[in-house]
Amino acid sequence: LNRRLAEFGTTIFAEMSALAVRTGAINLGQGFPDTDGPEEVREAAVRALRDGRGNQYPPGPGVPELRTAVAGHQRRHYGLSYDPDREVLITAGATEAIAAALLALVEPGDEVIALEPYYDSYAAAIALAGGTRVPVTLRPGEGRFVLDLDELRAAVTPRTRLLLLNTPHNPTGTVLTREELTAIAELAVERNLLVVTDEVYEHLVFTDDATPAHLPLASFPGMRERTVTIGSAGKTFSFTGWKVGWVTSTPDLVTAVRSAKQYLTFVASGPFQYAVAEALALPDAYFTDLREDLRAKRDLLAAGLTAAGFDVYRPAGTYFITTDIRSLGESRSHGGDGFAFCRALPERAGVVAVPNAVFYDHRQEGAPFVRFAFCKRTEVLTDAVERLKSL
Ligand code: PMP
Ligand code: GLN
Repeated sequence: LNRRLAEFGTTIFAEMSALAVRTGAINLGQGFPDTDGPEEVREAAVRALRDGRGNQYPPGPGVPELRTAVAGHQRRHYGLSYDPDREVLITAGATEAIAAALLALVEPGDEVIALEPYYDSYAAAIALAGGTRVPVTLRPGEGRFVLDLDELRAAVTPRTRLLLLNTPHNPTGTVLTREELTAIAELAVERNLLVVTDEVYEHLVFTDDATPAHLPLASFPGMRERTVTIGSAGKTFSFTGWKVGWVTSTPDLVTAVRSAKQYLTFVASGPFQYAVAEALALPDAYFTDLREDLRAKRDLLAAGLTAAGFDVYRPAGTYFITTDIRSLGESRSHGGDGFAFCRALPERAGVVAVPNAVFYDHRQEGAPFVRFAFCKRTEVLTDAVERLKSL
């Protein structure tokens, strides 16, 4: 393994899912739904396969039907206009979009600012691009993990090339507020930064008085021309195995990302692209139902974890709950060591979770936090909650 990748072993998701299979524990670790997305979308994939659409290499930027559907989605939900031919790129999941964006836009030695804890592929993609990651830590406060805007501002140096953002945020469930996004946008404009924004959980925002529907960073003043926005059918339609993602940005930035993408996978898988094009046109009720179903599951798991003794950070978005295990007490929390806790949890309670420490450079900051996924059937969550009570 070369020096760029030396610090990266097996991803925590593979490790924890293997542990779940080995122990027969309920897997609330890796974030994938245990029911598939809409029947009609699966049928659309079958039809595409049967009719020979996409069985041979699709066009590099993605099939026109899907690019048009992605542009239509950005217009319908956010009032953002993108030209399907020049400003949309289809990728092999958001993961490839992230890697291709960083490989295309970062020079070796450039600094990339990422919110910590960060989704694990960010660190590896920055490393592959030869960049230096500069984490800005979200810290617990007011019942959520909060971005310190002064720290963000202070992290920008003359070497900063881009901000790598994620809202709604995995693993904390934080949804950046309009005020926070405004401040980030002003900073990006003032310091002339590019922003790559991972918005794969855009439809998993549990709107209430304090939380409006998803606010794409590209919709803020001065941002459309400097923002690369990333979405994914894995999250929005519950098809994580299909690996269809997309990028929307300016023609220049999309061309740059495509230059890297074409040598990573060349193109994303064909038939699924046609099916996702149909999915993006589903009526508003689909998106509302997805969100409301997950809201109920969030509430169920949050209540269960609280009853079991965890300190719960109730997420405003995503399908993850971050907890602080220290409230369980010294011995039940393995001294507040999330790693040790998660390694022992399958044997102790028959449940798998993920230690947030793996998403930190400052491991100590993340040590006591543990993430549980709630994109599971209600009976599975109920069972998990019962098991956790006996911890
Ligand atoms: N970004 C974030 C924040 C995620 O949680 C995930 C899913 N694990 C991805 C990107 C990757 O998405 P995809 O499966 O489409 O590659
Ligand atoms: N995004 C999912 C998570 O955060 C899983 C990603 C993966 O397995 N690579 O759990």
